[in-house]
Amino acid sequence: MIKANQNILDVKPYIPGKPIEEVQRELGIEKVVKLASNENNLGVPKKVIEKIQHKLAELFLYPDGSCFKLRTKLAEKLAVDKDQLIFGNGSDEILQIIALAYLGADKSAIVANGTFSEYEFVARLLNAKRVVVPLKDYAYDLQGFLDAISDETNVIFLCNPNNPTGTYFSAQQLENFLEKVPANKLVVIDEAYYEYAYGDDFPESIPLLKKYQNTIILRTFSKVYSLAGSRIGYGIASKEIIDVLNRARQPFNVNSIAQECALVALDEDGWVEEVRKANDEQKEYFYSELDKLGVKYIPTKANFIFIEVQRDASAVFQSLMKLGVIIRPMTGFGFPKAIRVSVGLPAENKLFIECFKKVL
Ligand SMILES: *Cc1c(COP(=O)(O)O)cnc(C)c1O
Repeated sequence: MIKANQNILDVKPYIPGKPIEEVQRELGIEKVVKLASNENNLGVPKKVIEKIQHKLAELFLYPDGSCFKLRTKLAEKLAVDKDQLIFGNGSDEILQIIALAYLGADKSAIVANGTFSEYEFVARLLNAKRVVVPLKDYAYDLQGFLDAISDETNVIFLCNPNNPTGTYFSAQQLENFLEKVPANKLVVIDEAYYEYAYGDDFPESIPLLKKYQNTIILRTFSKVYSLAGSRIGYGIASKEIIDVLNRARQPFNVNSIAQECALVALDEDGWVEEVRKANDEQKEYFYSELDKLGVKYIPTKANFIFIEVQRDASAVFQSLMKLGVIIRPMTGFGFPKAIRVSVGLPAENKLFIECFKKVL
């Protein structure tokens, strides 16, 4: 028996969802709706599909390891320097690069429970200690994070808005927090749903990078830009942090199709607004239907809704699946009586509500 690293053996294997076609076949149902992974069911912008065709013939070439064109466009759009950006095979990969560069057996990471599981996962991969701070009223307890900081702390993982609860911390709360974090701890702010959350007192985090140089912001093309399958996300930080991360990055980590998709998607005028508007409308639909049912949910800043089902979430998941609606039970996130439902197209959401009524 070959001896594997114990920290790797301690990882619970990720159980991927079944492909929709497989569920359709098993259930003998033609219409199966997937509201489980916070994808944007409006689909890939048509122009992206048209404009990346020529890239297929270039697949014999290695991709541009620096993502030069995309870097130039995005730097301009975000008003940051080009060397303040790093691109990854999804922001998931950037989380892993952060862990490679800044975590190890002699260092610890602070993570919330009831949040995106990748933070805990990448810390574990590097055999780093994980200090867990529970959510408070379903939201990040930033004071709890401050209290958890120790000499060993090297990386602090925040998710805003939080997946899966949809709660957020405000600009003021974030600044108060960053003010108190020692400059030798890296603060990761995962803003995968930034474009959905925009507005009100939601933080504009990029301008904060000047003052708090120990911060990195992560965003992605997987959510609002509907490019989850192409795998591309990015980080924004000081040149110094980006330089460190680049040393831990594989040279061709972002494939050429993903780069082209992202480049074209950024040019889609009005896309973000269109998606946000559709999402806001459908959120209201969910709220009003759930209110009518007297079911408790958490108002969301993102494209998913956390719903308290007051019974075994796995059973609700199974029953909904038999009716052709796939959602995510929150059992694995530490909420055995809650589900997370992605906001889909109007007809999909309607189907969810109809089926949910039957299940209840
Ligand atoms: C979806 C999601 C991501 C995005 O991951 P990609 O690897 O860019 O697809 C990152 N963080 C959170 C919290 C997410 O929900």
